[in-house]
Amino acid sequence: MSKAINIAKFGGTSVANFDAISNCANIVKHNPETRVMVVSAAAGVTNLLVELAFSPLTQAQIAETCEKIRRIEHAILARLDASEAVSDKLEALLAEIESLACHEEILHRDDLKDELMSMGERMSSLLCTEVLKQQGVNALNFDIRKVLVTDSTFGEGVPQLDLIAQRAAEVLTPELTEHVVVTQGFVGADIHGNTTTLGRGGSDFTAALIAEALDAKSCEIWTDVIGVYTTDPRITKAAKPLPELSFEEAAEMATFGAKVLHPATMEPALRRDIPVFVGSSREPEKGGTWIVKDCQHEPAYRAITRRSQQVMVTVKTPQMMYAQGYLERVFGIIAQHKLSVDLVTTSEIAISFTLDNPPNSVAERLNKATIADLEAMSEVTVEKGFDLVTVVGNHMQSAKGVSSRIFNAVSDFNVRMICFGANPHNMSFLVNEADSANVVTALHRDLFE
Ligand code: ADP
Ligand code: ASP
Ligand code: MG
Repeated sequence: MSKAINIAKFGGTSVANFDAISNCANIVKHNPETRVMVVSAAAGVTNLLVELAFSPLTQAQIAETCEKIRRIEHAILARLDASEAVSDKLEALLAEIESLACHEEILHRDDLKDELMSMGERMSSLLCTEVLKQQGVNALNFDIRKVLVTDSTFGEGVPQLDLIAQRAAEVLTPELTEHVVVTQGFVGADIHGNTTTLGRGGSDFTAALIAEALDAKSCEIWTDVIGVYTTDPRITKAAKPLPELSFEEAAEMATFGAKVLHPATMEPALRRDIPVFVGSSREPEKGGTWIVKDCQHEPAYRAITRRSQQVMVTVKTPQMMYAQGYLERVFGIIAQHKLSVDLVTTSEIAISFTLDNPPNSVAERLNKATIADLEAMSEVTVEKGFDLVTVVGNHMQSAKGVSSRIFNAVSDFNVRMICFGANPHNMSFLVNEADSANVVTALHRDLFE
């Protein structure tokens, strides 16, 4: 297969309704290199599926939530000259949603949750295929579970790269000569065929993984903003789109909360050196951000990100004084409970660290068992209500005056923890969630305006 393949991924708002999907179809038609279209669930559908999968609901509430999903999908179907076969397929998926939501073990079985969570993308890929066909594209709806093999970690499946490459060559590549393949983001399957998902926002990651497996020339992420901005444009109107970014900068931004890209998106792109474009499906003519290996400029400050729902855990014990192996024991417990720690600070008798703890997701792991294990060796305090604000840039450790300028900008706020120095691309602050938008705005004003 030649390298001239482009993967185009369209997020939830881009496939929210018939008109939005028509814009996506035009974008696909415009570039003959686009052979794979990866789609998210229509906006709002995954959140409704989360309610069904994670909250104890009455029969009436389940019916009401299923009805909301049905209305979103039917509004799209109503605008299509779809065949009976297509509406039958949609009805079958809607019926499966209801039956999974009513399953007596839905709240306790992660495999059932993932089956349910995958439905948004499965419905949207079905309908997007029809919109493309209606616009004259030879589109094929393709079940990505035939290719995107993950391990069996439901809720955040880990892609099995060798198997993905092998299966892509066997069953996906042959389809690309004749068709534009329309497939599901976010969804995968383990080797036993159980449906898995890649974590919230995972469709970006899917697009990058497929780009890697097909050794694509480029990967486009079409969303509701005209590129990656200096900060989330929802926080401050002064945010500006960036024409280019390096893989490292984009990876840091995604990891530290820039929702526009799933945190793992840059890994496959970096491995194969595949440029990633981010643009708006509503306004494709406005261009966007190119994320590439080497940028012309490597500014000290590139962007500011915010990550919400951070928890700070402090483990304190006088035994730590002069003790050896104490950190090892604390981190042993953290590893055993599969927690991923972000910021760490230590003092003579205490260690504090932060964790991502979003509710209603598999990432919510700081549970009673973890705390009980830590309490067996020390006094434990858990504090919630923090956000992590990060300045992303380059050469931050070696450039003079970088930290003083940043500290100056946040001097009016109560900062609970600072992390700087582990790599040249970021400086992070833990702040009260009520302050975080103001912290971002103040930093943005001082560093970019
Ligand atoms: P999609 O559904 O297309 O995947 P997302 O909602 O996941 O879209 O991501 C797009 C959103 O990301 C934007 O609407 C914006 O509010 C948010 N965002 C956060 N940080 C940034 C940033 N630095 N640049 C652009 N958008 C950002
Ligand atoms: N639909 C999934 C979500 O809302 C995946 C995605 O949109 O990227 O998280
Ligand atoms: Mg997204």
